[in-house]
Amino acid sequence: MHILLMGPPGAGKGTQAAKLVEEFGVAHISTGDMFRAAVKNQTELGKRAQECMAAGKLVPDDVTIGIVKERLAQDDCKKGFILDGFPRTVEQAEALEKILKELDLALDCALNIDVPSAELVERAVGRRICKKCGATYNIKFKPPVKEGICDACGGELYQRADDSEATMKNRLAVYDEQTKPLIAFYKQNGLYKEVDGRQSMEAVYSDIIAALRG
Ligand code: ADP
Ligand code: AMP
Repeated sequence: MHILLMGPPGAGKGTQAAKLVEEFGVAHISTGDMFRAAVKNQTELGKRAQECMAAGKLVPDDVTIGIVKERLAQDDCKKGFILDGFPRTVEQAEALEKILKELDLALDCALNIDVPSAELVERAVGRRICKKCGATYNIKFKPPVKEGICDACGGELYQRADDSEATMKNRLAVYDEQTKPLIAFYKQNGLYKEVDGRQSMEAVYSDIIAALRG
């Protein structure tokens, strides 16, 4: 399995990637998670990414492409991978083609989770993440049993700083301008598939499985 999960912020990429990783044991490559870890540890990369992330803008292509190139060369990617949140620009998509060619790999498909923007703000603003294990919840759509506490590991839940309504609006504008053109890019090379992301998490997952088999 070598796939891209595409879709606007809040579409459910991370949620579905977690299920796919559990089922298929492939590597989960989320550039957003990588940047958040770097910011938390205040590495050089984190210091560069921080400002862009806080403003809802994209981290520069050269930086992002560099970290994905390194990540894809790691051993655990040999069992397959899910790219989540990368590529986000046509330049990143072109760089990915080059990187995969060098590694003698090819994508199986680029799977877009389609959700209208009106629903995305509510999803993002309600998103909560476990500090300890990274599990994702939603105060409305997937509340934890005990408020503020992770069902899986008992860790404390937090809200991402960029999941405010104002920053989310910027992120959606950036998506429309810079990331949406990737739909045409992957349609053109025949890898594009789409699922309706407005359904329940379970229904989206079964449509993804069907799309991957089809
Ligand atoms: P992305 O990785 O695309 O930004 P997430 O997987 O983190 O999105 O999901 C964003 C928020 O929406 C989370 O709080 C998640 O629990 C919730 N969510 C994910 N899929 C669905 C769905 N099908 N219906 C309702 N809420 C969802
Ligand atoms: P995400 O977790 O995918 O919502 O990403 C959070 C933030 O990380 C984005 O708003 C960007 O600032 C940054 N980011 C994540 N992936 C990329 C990427 N492929 N290119 C540029 N910036 C990214």
